[in-house]
Amino acid sequence: MSIKYVPEPFRIKMVETIKMLSRKEREQKIAEAKYNVFNLRGEDVYIDLLTDSGTNAMSQEQWAGIMRGDESYAGAGSYFKLVEAGRDIFDYQYIQPVHQGRAGEKVLFGLLMGEGQYAISNMFFDTTRAHVELAGARAIDCVVPEAGDPNLRVPFKGNMDVEKLEQLILKHGPEKIALVIMTITNNSAGGQPVSIRNMRDTAAVCKKYEIPLNIDAARYAENAYFIKQREEEFKDKYIKEIIREMFSYGDMFTMSAKKDSIVNIGGLIGIKNDGELYQLIKGRTISYEGYVTYGGLAGRDLEAMAVGLYEGLDEDYLKYRIGQMEYLAGRLDEAGITYQAPVGGHGVFLDAKAMFPHIPYYEFPGQALAIELYKEAGIRSCDIGSYMLGNDPDTGEQLHAEFEFTRLAIPRRVYTQAHLDIVADALINIKKRADSVKGYRITWEPPVLRHFQASLEPIE
Ligand SMILES: *Cc1c(COP(=O)(O)O)cnc(C)c1O
Repeated sequence: MSIKYVPEPFRIKMVETIKMLSRKEREQKIAEAKYNVFNLRGEDVYIDLLTDSGTNAMSQEQWAGIMRGDESYAGAGSYFKLVEAGRDIFDYQYIQPVHQGRAGEKVLFGLLMGEGQYAISNMFFDTTRAHVELAGARAIDCVVPEAGDPNLRVPFKGNMDVEKLEQLILKHGPEKIALVIMTITNNSAGGQPVSIRNMRDTAAVCKKYEIPLNIDAARYAENAYFIKQREEEFKDKYIKEIIREMFSYGDMFTMSAKKDSIVNIGGLIGIKNDGELYQLIKGRTISYEGYVTYGGLAGRDLEAMAVGLYEGLDEDYLKYRIGQMEYLAGRLDEAGITYQAPVGGHGVFLDAKAMFPHIPYYEFPGQALAIELYKEAGIRSCDIGSYMLGNDPDTGEQLHAEFEFTRLAIPRRVYTQAHLDIVADALINIKKRADSVKGYRITWEPPVLRHFQASLEPIE
């Protein structure tokens, strides 16, 4: 084996038993789940790469924090600890906890946009797009064209297409653009990083047209690590310094803490210095989430988040984390299996279009590969393609996604090298019989965020 695996910078103190069902059982379970991986029970999954969201293993310091959590309804010590951590790392004046990322989107977006307006992002995450639409506005993706070619290895494939951004602003009129959102890392494009230079350029355009810039900040630490590796100017900076620089270009952020903050639940809204906006946010937090000083979380969750915000910055940890992705990607390179390359920060985004060229986008190649992975080795992954993208909110027509990915999201500090080898071996086996894999059709779907709930059947 020529690919080097970065050893875990921790040892294991608590274990959770997992087991693989037989192939016959797996085929039965996925059929019962109506070919929707979200309908599978956790216990029927052997290696769960559905998401890196809230699936992280907490440290002993975080678990100790769970015991220390202050459960006061108002003014809990854990709240102040969290606010201090947020101010210290991001250098924003106002930090509002919420129960997860989409709660932050719900609280914030309703204040900033409405009917007839648009939000533009390097790429919208699915819930972020949904909250723009629920607020009455429309979401426009504006990623650099390089992101569309999985085989093109460039350092910052998550970047905003700044020229196109300015064209879109002029086309619709600056007063119609309620918000620009920079997603770091760019989840939907494959966990691809955004450079500081691109953040600077994007912020300059926003400033020129007086449009606020929100950072969708779930993977703030992974993005900073990539900047340190790939952007010359920052190679000798601490991760925390890079994070402060990144956030200096935004006016506000929404964050799912279930990613780089290494907790199982939690989120944040950050406001750089707009006290009036913060006042409105407090009001909506109280209505939708809970009182300001707990934001829909238990005191213990605030405490674990305050610790996790810092643990995510540790460079030994980030080196191991990104190293896991590079290890798995390296094994796929050897086998000629394509993915969004270079590999991103939180998972390997397999190119399902390349694996199944005979399955058209409306028969969901990314979903087909996710189902094959479960049948092959009890691995749960998910579609990040046309199946996830859904229908046009105005015409109801199936949208054609830019990519057809199957995402292998890697939970933080959970799986080992041997698990990753099982994943690589499963993919190699599927590739051998790729011609015989069929597409899927939807038999039932809800109107919003359909991929979580829809029922499917194989096309015979
Ligand atoms: C996970 C995620 C969200 C939503 O956060 P939840 O905690 O799942 O509600 C928003 N944006 C991005 C980029 C994410 O990865």
